[in-house]
Amino acid sequence: MDDKPNPGTLSESSEPLFSFGVIADIQYADLEDGYNFHGSRRRYYRHSLLHLRGAIEHWNEESSAPCCVLQLGDIIDGYNAQYKASEKSLELVMSTFQTLKAPVHHTWGNHEFYNFSRDYLTNSKLNTKFLEDHIVHHPETMPSEDYYAYHFVPFPKFRFILLDAYDLSVLGVDQSSPKYQQCLQMLREHNPNTELNSPQGLSEPQFVQFNGGFSQEQLNWLNEVLTFSDTNQEKVVIVSHLPIYPEASDSVCLAWNYRDALAVIWSHQCVVCFFAGHTHDGGYSKDPFGVHHVNLEGVIETAPDSQAFGTVHVYPDKMMLKGRGRVPDRIMNYEKERAFHF
Ligand SMILES: [Zn+2]
Repeated sequence: MDDKPNPGTLSESSEPLFSFGVIADIQYADLEDGYNFHGSRRRYYRHSLLHLRGAIEHWNEESSAPCCVLQLGDIIDGYNAQYKASEKSLELVMSTFQTLKAPVHHTWGNHEFYNFSRDYLTNSKLNTKFLEDHIVHHPETMPSEDYYAYHFVPFPKFRFILLDAYDLSVLGVDQSSPKYQQCLQMLREHNPNTELNSPQGLSEPQFVQFNGGFSQEQLNWLNEVLTFSDTNQEKVVIVSHLPIYPEASDSVCLAWNYRDALAVIWSHQCVVCFFAGHTHDGGYSKDPFGVHHVNLEGVIETAPDSQAFGTVHVYPDKMMLKGRGRVPDRIMNYEKERAFHF
């Protein structure tokens, strides 16, 4: 079965075209260890920074050096806001990232919005939109400023698209804005609970306050970029804090309108892989259209004697995730008609 991890050592005789790093849910805070909402998973708030340092040391020394690292969101924990430590903790984590030789692309998750407003994030080091690439003569592939999303080309014929899964959300939005009212209404229509973070009794349990979704505007933009990538015969990797494929994720962790995002992706040939964080437990599934959905294990729930990050080695016919610690190795073949023939 495709959804089983591939145990053992990955071996590949030929050199990859390029490689990139992945890490998720660092959720650093200067706090004693704690537990998740259900009390079932230990959270290592301080040690998460040491896990990050270990990952960076590894990436800096890797023989197939990553061309970039994808940080899948929730870089510091929401508790920082309660202790008025948001800026200090972010500064500490970002100074750690500065020791990484490769550039980092930062995704925004719910914990970013527990700590900061959208305006603050836009003007912070967590905004890596300056790393975007432009497609000349195709203005329709330029993202709007209304959401935090962009695309870039780390290697010819491979395009990465970073999505904003909190474009529709009650988090990080000015509460006096019409958009906040629209999002709150959307959430309440699907979630009658007094506590909007509770999925209790919901037929669509993803409609909770700690999730969000993609605006039609952003999905239209995604559609334009994927149309270009199809025409240009590119392979596309999509990055989002929230997962969109139910088989790879706990349903309570999915983006509100994950079906809309899947419909756009499935109407194109070019997408090969979708990376997300948020779930902490990790998950994987290949969908019926051959897109590999990888939910990365979260650093925050990783014991000090383990690790949680990976390096993805990209080949003409597949991507090989070399996982560390809790992250399993995976071989992700492209659908036959999607493989490059050099
Ligand atoms: Zn999250």
